[in-house]
Amino acid sequence: MYCPKCGTENADDAQVCRSCSWALTNVTTADAAPAPAAKTSGLAIASLVLGLLSPLTCFLTAIPAIILGIVSLVKISGSAGRLKGSGLAIAGIAVPPVCLPLVAIMMGILMPALARTRQFAFRIVCSTNMVALSKAMLIYSNDYGQNPTPEKWCDLLIEHVEVTPEMFRCKGAPEGPSNYAINKHLEEFDGAAPAGTVLLFETYPGWNQAGGPEILTTENHEGDGCNIVFVDGHAEFVRTQTLNDLRWKPD
Ligand SMILES: [Zn+2]
Ligand SMILES: [Zn+2]
Repeated sequence: MYCPKCGTENADDAQVCRSCSWALTNVTTADAAPAPAAKTSGLAIASLVLGLLSPLTCFLTAIPAIILGIVSLVKISGSAGRLKGSGLAIAGIAVPPVCLPLVAIMMGILMPALARTRQFAFRIVCSTNMVALSKAMLIYSNDYGQNPTPEKWCDLLIEHVEVTPEMFRCKGAPEGPSNYAINKHLEEFDGAAPAGTVLLFETYPGWNQAGGPEILTTENHEGDGCNIVFVDGHAEFVRTQTLNDLRWKPD
């Protein structure tokens, strides 16, 4: 005969269940039938599924997984053997805390690599902008027979040559409207500046900026250096250590 409370099989003449001490004297034949096969708790399955998903959902499902796991454990233990799946529930509760440090370590490896890639992309876009501006300056000087006046070079390029406001922005800079300056000393060459002379360089946020090394900044690229366009139209990312070698004015 089976105990109706816990399902343990007992001797037919037993007075109490040998497992849970339930009185077996009044057990009817219907009660004495073998306990039906235990069902796996749906909540326990849900807990495990949510737990396994949690690393993919940035741990949004971690708390529901743990709550469902605990609820299903309580129900399983109170079900007198009709429900099973406590292993699944425990796994559902355990997966998020075990995965969290693993995911954190992975992020620690991936994030710096992503940041470097982002910085590299910023440099490329920045250099493309500056080359486009230098070409616009060339078009302007061909059209008007003189270089744009340094004190309003941004305005002149916007008004007379097809440049967009985005071309004046370095994505690594905190704000605009322009992050570039023209080398004010170019006028001192009387139109005969050597190819390697600075034409455009990176500076602090502003507009129509002109000057020399005193307003150059490497902050747009995390202090690694800055983009320079030279008089011959080529661009270079010049590292901070070699910025002192740049040519700005006649000797
Ligand atoms: Zn029992
Ligand atoms: Zn830049």
